[in-house]
Amino acid sequence: MGHARSYNVYYQSIRKDKLNQIFHNTKQLLLRIELLTNTNEHIPRNGNSKERRKYEQNIVSWMEDSVASTCASCCKSFGLSRRKHHCRLHGSVICNQCSQFLSFSIARCIIDSNISSTSTTNSLAIQQLINLKSVTLSTIINDESNEDYLRICMSCAQCLHNYHHQMCFKNIPKDEIFHHYEKIVQAQNEYNHFHPTYLAIIDSLLSGDTKYQIVDAQRAYRQLNVHYDKIDSISKHIAALADKCLNINENDTTSKNRYATICRNIRTYSVQVLQNFSISTKRIPSEDDIKKAQDEKKRLDNERMTRTILTIPGINLNSLEISEKLEPFIQQYHQVTQFLEQAKSAGRDDEVRLLESNLKELAQAMSIIHQN
Ligand SMILES: [Zn+2]
Ligand SMILES: [Zn+2]
Repeated sequence: MGHARSYNVYYQSIRKDKLNQIFHNTKQLLLRIELLTNTNEHIPRNGNSKERRKYEQNIVSWMEDSVASTCASCCKSFGLSRRKHHCRLHGSVICNQCSQFLSFSIARCIIDSNISSTSTTNSLAIQQLINLKSVTLSTIINDESNEDYLRICMSCAQCLHNYHHQMCFKNIPKDEIFHHYEKIVQAQNEYNHFHPTYLAIIDSLLSGDTKYQIVDAQRAYRQLNVHYDKIDSISKHIAALADKCLNINENDTTSKNRYATICRNIRTYSVQVLQNFSISTKRIPSEDDIKKAQDEKKRLDNERMTRTILTIPGINLNSLEISEKLEPFIQQYHQVTQFLEQAKSAGRDDEVRLLESNLKELAQAMSIIHQN
């Protein structure tokens, strides 16, 4: 107990440090963006001019080109085909492929996302930030219509994305949704956990095995259905919450829309999960199919038995029916024959000799029972 507690305290202190660090880093990035995207007329805007570069380096000191032989992001070596560039937000040297281009307008709305924004196009634009494919520098500079960009590295982009994401959901009451969502995940886990057992019962029935009965399959199916229905009903309940938007400020349409989107996404996700369940869950076979499988298995067993009998010295199949007393011996004889095959092919000579003498004893025993 004491151990667990002290470990917990240790973990919490690390977590707190980590969160503080992230908070500090993010605040620093936002401040830098604020300065770098300032469109005051006295500030040079051309991404390539000497004045602009000087302005940028005043805000963020750049790593020396000579110090970096590999890209800070992908670790590939620089050369003629891989030129050096700088992340404008923290000065590291990166290659063009690892560069993200943050437009001034997106940058501004990330800074402003703390203030509740009502524009949905803004959040769409930011959504694109993280999906943004690196655009070659030339297309940005040559295209007159293109607005100003900041070249940034992947980790800075990720940091901004996380920050924006947090801000987007700041005003949304998540507790109720998450409480229900957890129940869905739990039901999903229980379904997945029990699913193999159900499949094993079905496979056993279809193989003609008599280990399980059809009622076992029906019981297992009902058990799976409990979880299935739970996922279905809870996710419907969440979807219905979408239109209610409990505890959100009446005028905060952005938060309302996001809340509704989360609710509907959970329902969509759940429907997909249920569809997958339906596809992967075999039906219970009919009594007829099970009977057919059992008959087929019996036929194959008999065939195998006959083949085995033919190899046993001293037993004559033609003379009379094989008595029930002999059956277990023949099964055993067949098994030992198989072990013998394996031992022979693996070259285990001692085992081969032992199994051969077992077979002889079995044959003698059977011969005596057969004659009586
Ligand atoms: Zn790179
Ligand atoms: Zn960076």
